[in-house]
Amino acid sequence: MSKAQDRIRIHTGDITKLDVDAIVNAANTSLLGGGGVDGAIHRAAGRELEFECRMLNGCKVGDAKITSGYKLPARHVIHTVGPVWQGGGKGEAELLASCYRRSLDIAVANDCRSVAFPAISTGVYRYPKDDATEIAVYEVNDFIKHNALPEIVVFCCFDEAMAELYRQHLATLGGD
Ligand code: ADP
Repeated sequence: MSKAQDRIRIHTGDITKLDVDAIVNAANTSLLGGGGVDGAIHRAAGRELEFECRMLNGCKVGDAKITSGYKLPARHVIHTVGPVWQGGGKGEAELLASCYRRSLDIAVANDCRSVAFPAISTGVYRYPKDDATEIAVYEVNDFIKHNALPEIVVFCCFDEAMAELYRQHLATLGGD
């Protein structure tokens, strides 16, 4: 069997352009849209996404919910809510890890073979990028080691500096 990290890709660019089974949205608890990647996803998907999101009654920090992708190339959007960084003593690391695990659980339940993640919480929510990247890489690698789906996970980085952080953390993974 191939190594888990052979199923991980790093892409630099706009997540709304990716033709994958599901893109993950770094949403807020209302699920009604916001700035950053959330705003970009809602703009690209169209108003119907907001209508579906209204029916979901929000989402807790560390949890995730799925909708259709509407006008996006992606079939689904998995909305997860990352923690706001408050210095690290408020359970932020466990909540961020939970965002990745819950999103992947939901992807599997919906037969998603390819899933793309943005760098959850590293924008307006101010999670330190290096620490957030370490958690993202660890959780995704651990999950796919134990699951046949998703076959491919893409870390979609908005800039090259973030992509380089992901490369560094991926390189530290063991070979199992
Ligand atoms: P959060 O509120 O969880 O911090 P943000 O949207 O502010 O979410 O930022 C999360 C990450 O998404 C940041 O690293 C930001 O650079 C990145 N980002 C913003 N727009 C896009 C996009 N269109 N595609 C991919 N990543 C994006």
